[in-house]
Amino acid sequence: MSLSLSRPSCWPSDADFALLASQLSQPPIYPVPPESACYPVSDPSGNCAEVIARAFDPNWRPVQCSLPISKRSSFRTGRLGSVSVDAQTAEDVQAAVVLAEKWNLRVVVKSTGRGNSPAGSAGAAGCWVQGGGHEILSPQFGIGVDNAIQFTVVTSSGSHLTANVYSHPDLFWANLRGGGGGTYGVLTSVAYDTHPEEYVVFVATEAAATPAIAQSIGGYAYKATSGTVIEATQLFPSFYSVYTGIFAGNPSKTDGEGSNAELVSRLLPRGLIENDPETVAETLLSMNNTVIYHLVAGGAASKVDPDSTGLNPAWRTAAAHVVLSEGWPEGTRVSDVRLIHGTLKGYLGVLEELLGLGGGAYFNEASLYESNFQETFFGDHHSKLEAIKDQYDPAGLFVVVEGVGFERFDDTLDCLKA
Ligand SMILES: Cc1cc2nc3c(=O)[nH]c(=O)nc-3n(C[C@H](O)[C@H](O)[C@H](O)COP(=O)(O)OP(=O)(O)OC[C@H]3O[C@@H](n4cnc5c(N)ncnc54)[C@H](O)[C@@H]3O)c2cc1C
Repeated sequence: MSLSLSRPSCWPSDADFALLASQLSQPPIYPVPPESACYPVSDPSGNCAEVIARAFDPNWRPVQCSLPISKRSSFRTGRLGSVSVDAQTAEDVQAAVVLAEKWNLRVVVKSTGRGNSPAGSAGAAGCWVQGGGHEILSPQFGIGVDNAIQFTVVTSSGSHLTANVYSHPDLFWANLRGGGGGTYGVLTSVAYDTHPEEYVVFVATEAAATPAIAQSIGGYAYKATSGTVIEATQLFPSFYSVYTGIFAGNPSKTDGEGSNAELVSRLLPRGLIENDPETVAETLLSMNNTVIYHLVAGGAASKVDPDSTGLNPAWRTAAAHVVLSEGWPEGTRVSDVRLIHGTLKGYLGVLEELLGLGGGAYFNEASLYESNFQETFFGDHHSKLEAIKDQYDPAGLFVVVEGVGFERFDDTLDCLKA
């Protein structure tokens, strides 16, 4: 967890930090990005070669902020908070939150950065589940939120609460079950329902991704670029062996972490694909080469009562989650990155045209340019999510870009709008 503020006059005194240090299980950290080793550019202070070599290593980069190397003449700390707490216990989290609440500081919670685990997977108790959590097993067992049965959380008052369908059910509905990670408090544990291991048939082939397929299998479909049809079928004794054998088997283990990319996305309604498959296919194929058609909705995910979790109800009628992305190499000129932003905004416009302005999207893999993010990410659950946010975080300690309550803050994210 990191604490930061751009108004130094409101910064806690040394005595406040000494009190914090006395309450923590280990000393606070005053973080400096490892990229600092590359500065000053004319005479690097450390091992800059290692920084460059590990720039895309997910076990290293996601816990850091991303600073362009060698493009700046002076060193800045980028997006890192001024003080960090390596929270080992719920009491550590409580001490940091109480200090932040007293001084009206912003809190940044860091889990995995979706890549800081050895196999490059998301954290079990982080934003993956709080924002929804899709998986190729979702058509069989439901979305991540459907399988989460209890969690513990530190709220802005510093209370450490247990939430499930009986205890703080409103917070359970919102915080753990799709209302957006980081918005309501700091999660300290999650309990999941588990399922018996089953045999898995893994198929790589050319196939039409129809709504019927979406009801029965999970997977990822990509736009073919080479004309080569991959055909492979393999039987695995469990999903874990698919995971370790195929997904975690990527030798670089990067899976996109650490690289520069932005994306836009939409949940494609089953009805739209059934009624007008040609338009859907033509629209998606007309845009670019990085369309990923996630077959992670439908089946069990569509049989859950849409109002039983805070998750965007659009998930329950979707056949697929479609993502379009554009990346750029380190060192790309700002003007060229702006051109890419323009391209992405263009894709968003095309998706809006395809689905209409009320189309839903997945909060965890989405655009930064949503004009109506409240409806797009949360659908008609937004007003209830907002009321729960006000109840558990009345001062707005936890701010998430395009999350519930975001529009109340100014551009610095430090101050509530007048
Ligand atoms: C390469 C890649 C592949 C992905 N694949 C999938 C996929 O298959 N399915 C899917 O559903 N999503 C996928 N995602 C999206 C993923 O769900 C999000 O990136 C998610 O935010 C990762 O959560 P994290 O907690 O691991 O990461 P972090 O970056 O550490 O956290 C993300 C957000 O959650 C908040 N947060 C984290 N931990 C806590 C906590 N304990 N309490 C309160 N707030 C917290 C943070 O403050 C931050 O705002 C993918 C992302 C990437 C980069």
